[in-house]
Parts: sequence; structure tokens; C-alpha cells
Amino acid sequence: MSQGLLTVAYLAASLLFILSLGGLSNQESARKGNAYGIIGITLAMMVTILGASGLGLAATLAGIVVGGVIGAILAARVAMTSMPELVAILHSFVGLAAVLVGVSSYLAGDVDRLSGIDKLIHEVEIFVGVFIGGVTFTGSVVAFGKLRGKIGSKPLLLPGRHFVNLAALVGSLALGVMFSQATGSAEGIPPLVIMTLISFFMGWHLVMAIGGADMPVVVSMLNSYSGWAAAATGFMLANDLLIVTGALVGSSGAILSYIMCKAMNRSIWNVIFGGFGATPAKTTGAAEQPAGEVHSISAEETAELMLNAQSIMIIPGYGMAVAQAQHPIKEITSLLRKKGANVRFGIHPVAGRLPGHMNVLLAEANVPYDIVFEMDEINHDFPEVDVTLVIGANDIVNPGALDDPNSPIYGMPVLECWKSKDVIVMKRSMASGYSGVDNPLFYKDNTKMLFGDAKERVNNILSTIQARSH
Ligand code: NDP
Repeated sequence: MSQGLLTVAYLAASLLFILSLGGLSNQESARKGNAYGIIGITLAMMVTILGASGLGLAATLAGIVVGGVIGAILAARVAMTSMPELVAILHSFVGLAAVLVGVSSYLAGDVDRLSGIDKLIHEVEIFVGVFIGGVTFTGSVVAFGKLRGKIGSKPLLLPGRHFVNLAALVGSLALGVMFSQATGSAEGIPPLVIMTLISFFMGWHLVMAIGGADMPVVVSMLNSYSGWAAAATGFMLANDLLIVTGALVGSSGAILSYIMCKAMNRSIWNVIFGGFGATPAKTTGAAEQPAGEVHSISAEETAELMLNAQSIMIIPGYGMAVAQAQHPIKEITSLLRKKGANVRFGIHPVAGRLPGHMNVLLAEANVPYDIVFEMDEINHDFPEVDVTLVIGANDIVNPGALDDPNSPIYGMPVLECWKSKDVIVMKRSMASGYSGVDNPLFYKDNTKMLFGDAKERVNNILSTIQARSH
């Protein structure tokens, strides 16, 4: 394939990726954005395959077939609620790829074939690429373990951890100088390998220091790192498309991390440097002493309350995703709106286990976009709301985040649903949510608990409302 054609194809793919990001920034255009992305990556893969020949072509095709089959099986099997784990482990592959490409490029003697400034530039590309890749690799593996529950969600706050991180960074810089001054690979390999091990340690240490409730931001931060790792790989391989794509992923991931940090009232530096200024969690688990009496309610009584309400707010959380209760809740919404009620959905930025998790589920159930509101848009409306229905949400409606300075989630803005006239919380038990803290909302006078699986209970409510609507 001619170089000119390759450049044009790469340019077209880059443009499609930019259009894709633009489309994905809005729910209405997200499908189109996805389509642009798919066309872009197909084009990129096709020209990459066409550009290879001989052994390279065979290896590329084998890689695509094996990787494609494994990826398709995993993606088909994964539950929507386990997506963050899948995303985290995929980030780790990008990091590991950057390490392997960097080390193999060095071992293949790519540096020795260059001289002067070109040699130095390639050495910097390899060293920085391997470093970012190493941090991304182990950081993502730890994030995977934490999200899957294999590693405890409590932050690991080693004494003098910032000094340890600083020492690792300074040590890596010194190794980088040694690496660039090496006269051959025999001299260059030791500093490269030692720095790789340090970068593995740093990735592990940085993410181990992050507490459970801050994990959403860490996942998006690692997404950004994986983009920079891919861009670094692009530099090492002199592949312009990989540089552009990596930079797009890196910068959009960084912007998303910043937006999420702002939404959760967390410092971005806290996330980057792993638990900087984090206060150790005081409480964990449902073993926490109840703070008062709990009032329960039946599905029929809930339906009555909703039928008599003029203004209704629905707050979905992770439990709605687990139970897949979005379809019957959409039916309830349609019936109540037909009767003239003002039904709205309030979405917390970290509800569920993925950015935009709730929006995706509600869109899948065809809930109209114009009744789905972000937290900031509706938080001040709760005093005028008659009934708030909390479906499988917990941390995102925890008043302790606002008034308990000892709470691990203190400072995170939450949906202030307790200000509405009545609050119904649907969940199976009194168990805590992802961050492992007790929720004082459950003990408030105007809160009633509707226990049971969210889908079953929503179906019960729907039956009563349907019976009353005929
Ligand atoms: P939570 O994890 O705080 O609470 C979910 C609740 O759902 C649980 O308390 C559980 O209670 C209930 N539940 C589970 N299954 C069912 C079911 N089948 N039927 C009814 N209820 C059920 O979720 P939130 O959405 O409120 O908050 C999200 C949390 O996840 C935050 O802490 C956030 O930081 C974190 N997180 C978010 C990510 C993101 O990107 N959005 C990524 C990673 C973490 P019970 O067992 O009693 O039923």
C-alpha cells in the first residue's frame, strides 16, 4: 500500500474518531457517534492489515482472530454491571502492550540504528512509553481487583507514601539519564528493566491508595493513562494514527476525570497521587449500628402514594441495573404521566458502576430524554416533590455525605431526596452500598422502605397502577 494512501486513510480514521467523540457527548447523537467510531476503527484496521506483508501479515491476522474471538466472547458474556471491571482489565492490556513494544523495540536494536538527536528522541519515547505503560498496567489490574471485590476497597495508606512515590519518580528519572547514556543494549537493559519494575510498583501503589467511593474517577483516570500509553506506543512505532487516537483517548479521559472529580467534590490531585489528603474511613459494612427506627411499606401502598402525587422523582441506582427494573419503571412513568403527574428522573454522576450507566439503561427502556435530569439540574426541586422513589440506590442519596465529617464519602454531593414529602427506598435489605457506609436516610421519618428485588417490586407497583387505571 502506498504511503500517500495510508496517510489519507489514517487522516480519515482520525477525523471519524473526532466525530465519534463529538457524537458520544450527547444522548441523542450517541448512536451516530458509535457508528463513526466503528467505521473509523474498521478503516484503521483494514489499512494496517493491507500495509503488512509476509510474517508480519500472518502475525497480525492471527492476533486479530485470536484477540477478536476472546474479546467477542467476553463482551457477549459480561453483565452491564461488570463493565467497569472489563474496562479496567482492557486498560491494563494497553499498558502492557506499551511496555512490550518499548522493550522489544529496544531489544531489536531500533535505537542502535540511529544517531545524535534521533537516537535520543527514540530513547525518550521508549523510556517514557514503558514508564506510562507500566503504571497503567498494574494500576488497572488493581482497579480490576477492587471493582471485582477481590481486593478490599479500603485505601492502603502506607506511611510516607508521598515520599515513596516521589523517590520512585526521581529514581526513574535518574535511570532515564543512565539509559540515554548507555553505549549499547547490554548497558541500557538494566536501567530499563529496573525502571519497568518501579513503574509496576507505582501503578500498584497509586491505585491501592484510593478508597472505594473514588473508584469511578480512578477508572476514568486509568482510561486517560491508557490513551497516553497508546500515544507513546505510536511514537515508538512511528504510527501517526496511534499517536492521534491515543492523544484523543488520553485527553478525553482526563477531561472526564476532571468533570467527575468536580461532581464528587474530590481533588484531581488526590486521585492522581493516590489518596493525597485522604482521611481513613471510619466505618465499613452493614454491621454499623442502626440510627433509628425503620418504617416499611408495601408495593400497593407505594402505588397509592404515587397515584395521589402530583410531582414524582425517580432516583435509579446500581440496584436498578442489577434487577433490570428499567422497563417496568418506564411503564409506570407512562401511566402516571398520562394521568397528568409530573414524573422526572434524577441522575447522580456516579450512580451505578459506570459513567452514564443509568442514562444508558433508561435510554434502552425508551424513557424520554427530556424527563431525565442531572443532579445539579433538579437538586433544588426536592422540597416541591411529593414522592421520591429511590430504586436500588444507596451512596448517592446518603445525607451523611453532607453532614457527617467522619463519613468516607463526606463532601460528595448527593441527591437531597429527603427534602421531598415522602421518600420510598427500594432495596432488598439494610445492606450498605458500594462505599460500605450506613445510610441515615433509611431512618428518617418521611422515609419508607420497600424491601425486595427491585424488578419484582416495580412490577407489583405497576400491576396496582394498571388495575387502578382501567
Ligand atoms: P450503591 O452501590 O451505593 O447501592 C446500590 C444498592 O442497590 C445496594 O445498597 C443494594 O442494597 C441495592 N440492590 C442491589 N441489588 C438489588 C436488587 N436486585 N434489587 C433492589 N436493590 C438492589 O449504588 P449507587 O448507584 O447508589 O452508588 C454508586 C456507588 O458506586 C458509589 O459509591 C460510586 O462511587 C460507586 N462507583 C461508581 C462508578 C461509576 O462510574 N458510576 C464506578 C465504580 C464505583 P441491597 O443489597 O440491600 O439490595
